[in-house]
Amino acid sequence: MIYRADDSRYESMQYNRTGRSGLTLPALSLGLWHNFGDTKPLQSQRDIVRRAFDRGVTHFDLANNYGPPYGSAEANFGRILADDFGTYRDELVISSKAGYDMWPGPYGDFGSRKYLLSSLDQSLGRLGLDYVDIFYHHRPDPETPIEETASALASAVSQGKALYVGVSNYGPDDTRRMHAALAEHRVPLLIHQPRYSMFDRHIENEGLLPVLDELGVGGIVFSPLAQGLLTDRYLTGTVPDGSRAATSRFLPESRIDEGYLSRARALDAIAKDRGQTLAQLALTWVLRQPQVTSAIIGASSVEQLDQNLDALQAEPLTVAELSLIEPHAVH
Ligand code: NDP
Repeated sequence: MIYRADDSRYESMQYNRTGRSGLTLPALSLGLWHNFGDTKPLQSQRDIVRRAFDRGVTHFDLANNYGPPYGSAEANFGRILADDFGTYRDELVISSKAGYDMWPGPYGDFGSRKYLLSSLDQSLGRLGLDYVDIFYHHRPDPETPIEETASALASAVSQGKALYVGVSNYGPDDTRRMHAALAEHRVPLLIHQPRYSMFDRHIENEGLLPVLDELGVGGIVFSPLAQGLLTDRYLTGTVPDGSRAATSRFLPESRIDEGYLSRARALDAIAKDRGQTLAQLALTWVLRQPQVTSAIIGASSVEQLDQNLDALQAEPLTVAELSLIEPHAVH
């Protein structure tokens, strides 16, 4: 059936300004790292993407190697875009990245100009797009001079293949250096994409958030549900068939241990007292930081997506609730 987006899609989503830029992003964005490769039915992918947009999620986050196999999430999303979203392109913010392993040999990984610009061309081909809205360097490269990586990102912008650029997984010092290197090209660093959740607070320990404030860079955090650990998925202590812990090397089953279960169950009780699910509490918690423009969630079903988006209806956390959470949220 031909897709027509819900006319009320902009009524309940909150849009936040990305640093000191002109771009706003939805408080919750959808990531296509898992659940959008060739191992998942295209129809379930299409249902999730349509539902997200119908509820005001304008931002979809990809990378060259999302799948499996690598590249297939971009190809599948490209198909959905072509079939369903042709008339909505200007209402969408689509990102991709390069920086991790993508193809064999020395030119398919890390941060060289050679890798980044050829990877971006490949991503555009798979997505069927002339440009992405945001192109990221996916992780810092200790070997490549940051000036070279910056010059590749700046070229992507000057060639019209990316509207904005960002970095992911950079520490505070490298973020400052990239910001300065891009400024030499008069290209602003729009956004930083770090991991952040109640189970991973390294950006608080490293002092990244004040640096984003100072530089006027937005923050978009990934894995805010700790890949499903901060949901009811594993609370019984068993690993359901088809879940990420059962299927992905990125979430080993060994993570579901007694220490995890006692923390997650304590947080679940706090969530219940607020009338929320654990997933919703986890999202309210990351969004409390003013530097967090958006949180990128994953979802393997429309039901999960709906539950997560409903988190935006919640009251902010009180000081008393934050201190109840504190002992269970790992530093
Ligand atoms: P989350 O922490 O949101 O985990 C998503 C997973 O949690 C889902 O696949 C699902 O797992 C489970 N889940 C989600 N909602 C619910 C719910 N309501 N109830 C029960 N289970 C639920 O994020 P991701 O780890 O998926 O990362 C999100 C995005 O962030 C990625 O798609 C990507 O765009 C980006 N990212 C960026 C990285 C980077 O280096 N820049 C690295 C990693 C991610 P299940 O499949 O078991 O149902």
